[in-house]
Amino acid sequence: MTSATTTAWEGRHYIQGQWQAGRGERFSTVDPAHFDRVLGTYPRGGVAEVDAAVRAARQAFPSWRRTSRIRRGECFDALARLIHQHTDQLAEVLARECGKVLDEARAEIVEGLHMVQYVFGTARQPTGLVVDSEIEEKDLYVRRKPRGVVGVITPWNFPFAVPLWMLGPSLLEGNTTVFKPSEETPEIGQRLVALFEQAGFPPGVINLVHGVGEEAGAALATHPDVDVVTFTGSYEVGAKIRLAAAQCDHKTCACEMGSKSAVIVCQDADLELAARAALLSAFKTTGQRCVSAGRVLVHRDRFDAFAERFVELARRIRFGDPFAPDSFAGPLINEAAVTKVLQYNQLARDEGATVLLDGGRLDDAEHAHGYYVGPFVYRQEYRPGLRTIREEVFGPHVALIPFDDDEMGIRIYNDTPYGLSMAVVTEDYRRWRLYRDECDYGMGYVNLPCIGAEVHLPFGGVKRSGNGQPSAAALVDAVTHKTAFTVNHAREIKMAQGMSSDV
Ligand code: NAD
Repeated sequence: MTSATTTAWEGRHYIQGQWQAGRGERFSTVDPAHFDRVLGTYPRGGVAEVDAAVRAARQAFPSWRRTSRIRRGECFDALARLIHQHTDQLAEVLARECGKVLDEARAEIVEGLHMVQYVFGTARQPTGLVVDSEIEEKDLYVRRKPRGVVGVITPWNFPFAVPLWMLGPSLLEGNTTVFKPSEETPEIGQRLVALFEQAGFPPGVINLVHGVGEEAGAALATHPDVDVVTFTGSYEVGAKIRLAAAQCDHKTCACEMGSKSAVIVCQDADLELAARAALLSAFKTTGQRCVSAGRVLVHRDRFDAFAERFVELARRIRFGDPFAPDSFAGPLINEAAVTKVLQYNQLARDEGATVLLDGGRLDDAEHAHGYYVGPFVYRQEYRPGLRTIREEVFGPHVALIPFDDDEMGIRIYNDTPYGLSMAVVTEDYRRWRLYRDECDYGMGYVNLPCIGAEVHLPFGGVKRSGNGQPSAAALVDAVTHKTAFTVNHAREIKMAQGMSSDV
């Protein structure tokens, strides 16, 4: 791993088992912790490269689909061993490219590894159902079939684990794939594909096209020969992908999008646990997780004590060099993210917030060359329509919102267009059951942060956070279709529901 001051990484597409430098324009990436350092350059793929990759995937589909599921699983076993072997190196690339602190970058590689191990483990699991018929001579089966070519479009903030949540189940089920990593983090995507190649996945089964969203991403999302688009990213882009899929007869999509997740601190909460859970939820990954808590709802009776402890802890954490062991989190991803976060900080003031902590843009010697913004914490009385407590900020920006009773806590929690993650802090089993049942979310937690997924669970949300096709273990439903298959063992035709078969 080079800490480059000049271009070090050379990106290439991977199409039909061939690494290709690509023609025409290239784009470059910079280190978000040192934006004067260019990390790599990558070919700017578009319609032609996506088309070639989709054709390669289509061509590889029949043979991969017919390959035994066990054999497909064994490729994942080989991949798991390679990821294991390269964990440290991969974590360094990831930390450098997206600014995650090393410990978190490593955890993401391990999460990707877990997905691959899970996929391998499911290769020998039953895949269908045998069901009884009302006609005794008939056998009924429910069998899953792969859908075909799957497009995989992924965000920068989980550039290793999220692609594996999608590529893993898609490929195990017999689909072939075209992967478009985020233009902010193409290197770790390319390293992952190189490991797929080394693990023995045949040419055309996985293809990689680099490029920017409006070009390579849009070309993949709208390509007529792509059967499923699996997308993780912002709501704005996900909405376009859903629209494109709706306009194409055979195409479906699985979209995981943004959120305004929350931790809810109840009247009976253990305050120290609540403060720590909220801190991890708001500021891990510098608030740049889809499940980051942009809101902490606190029962009014406990508000002052909670806020005091939360701010005290928030003052303690350090956003700094991703490779420094005492950094709690790193920089934001780019200048646009800095501008967005600072604008939302100002908007909170304009909407009447009481600011409790404002880290501002960090520009001392250590931070001057990175995209660093410190924690912003404010108290906001709930009113419907406040933008800062409804919209995703995707940075270290958190509202502490008092509520009077559980009914009000649930109402505030649900008053956003999103529904991804919810954590409730309480010692009362009746209370957590109420929040569990009344809040809109895809992932719920009790006495924990609202971050921290495991791959063998579904990962998805409701409302603007997802379209009902969760990722990770649950992606199998999006990349296969269930077929009903009926076999008659009688010598004559017998119809169900008592219908006559007389001719
Ligand atoms: P983004 O939407 O800007 O980009 C995501 C991907 O879409 C990138 O690969 C990009 O190149 C591509 N893209 C952009 N425009 C496109 C277009 N017109 N057509 C097709 N593809 C296009 O998101 P981001 O900034 O990379 O990631 C942050 C967002 O992702 C946040 O909103 C976060 O909440 C969300 N996210 C959600 C989950 C989840 O599981 N729900 C997980 C991680 C991140």
